[in-house]
Amino acid sequence: MKQFRNSVIRAGLGALYLSGAHHLLRPIYSGVGAIFMLHHVRPRRDAEFQPNRHLEVAPEFLRAMLSHLRSDGIDIITMDEAHRRLIERDFSRRFACFTLDDGYRDNRDFALPVMREFDAPLAVYVASDFAEGTGRLWWIALEKVIAGASSIEAGIGEVATRLDTSTPAAKQVAFDRLHGWLRALPGGHDIQREMAALCARHGVDETAVSRDLCMSWGELKPFAEDPLVTIGAHTITHCNLANQTEEIASHELAISRAQIESALQRPVVHLAYPYGDRTAAGAREFALARAAGFKTAVTTRPGMIFPESADRLTALPRVSLNGNYQDTRILPVLTSGAATAMWNGFRRTA
Ligand SMILES: [Zn+2]
Repeated sequence: MKQFRNSVIRAGLGALYLSGAHHLLRPIYSGVGAIFMLHHVRPRRDAEFQPNRHLEVAPEFLRAMLSHLRSDGIDIITMDEAHRRLIERDFSRRFACFTLDDGYRDNRDFALPVMREFDAPLAVYVASDFAEGTGRLWWIALEKVIAGASSIEAGIGEVATRLDTSTPAAKQVAFDRLHGWLRALPGGHDIQREMAALCARHGVDETAVSRDLCMSWGELKPFAEDPLVTIGAHTITHCNLANQTEEIASHELAISRAQIESALQRPVVHLAYPYGDRTAAGAREFALARAAGFKTAVTTRPGMIFPESADRLTALPRVSLNGNYQDTRILPVLTSGAATAMWNGFRRTA
């Protein structure tokens, strides 16, 4: 599904840029601001098989975006300030927020130094289990399993299936198939069970992934003290909230918030929904986030921020800075709102 959306966007972004249509679309679709969504920020790697590449941008690309925004006179603000401007209807200046999901250590090592060059704030959404070192980043564990295997056996839809993973191209095909299958399983426990079996068969330590890549509580404490940094919540287990009972979903929201507050000794009032699309966060989750005391919550639905977003503060759309399109020519397309409008079929929001 992601792959499909990517190819649509790839074709469309280039066309939008070349046509110059983003200049025409800007007054209609650019809204009052944008919340950019990132995951990893780190130098490009050479490996041919990088199925999660869309989740990472190079520091230079982040820098290019920041200078583009600065040269356009767009304010780069905290989520607190975005919240204030929305509720006070203060739209005299356009704004951008930078949000990074999952709490990767590269956010501290590569994103923060670039943000600091521009005195620009960032929000990092932390899943408690990732900080605890017990989390399951199954999409990365799956990448590791496939990277190290020449073939994989999995019971896709109860049918034992052998997938060729002997070449980079075959690995990508296998990843897409397994990722699609896992993502469609009914619950987090099903993904966990299948991934645990795959990891055991292929000698991958699944929980080591979170310790390798995510900041621990001990690392988050000084990171959170940086005046440019806001820490938000991202649930405890990084589950699809819409698949949980209301009781569990509320627990994931309230307890993740309480855990971060107690570990970092600072208030946590911003949330990002794991996965964040229509299948993971809808009306029920937006209400639960409000009830759990979050001032804002961001989805992965594509869109700019409009004045009417003030009525949907726990359902804010974002603009993905996607690692597959690190071409500086698309920056004006992204900030004009043309990209997200195209993605949404030229409606302003999804
Ligand atoms: Zn996440």
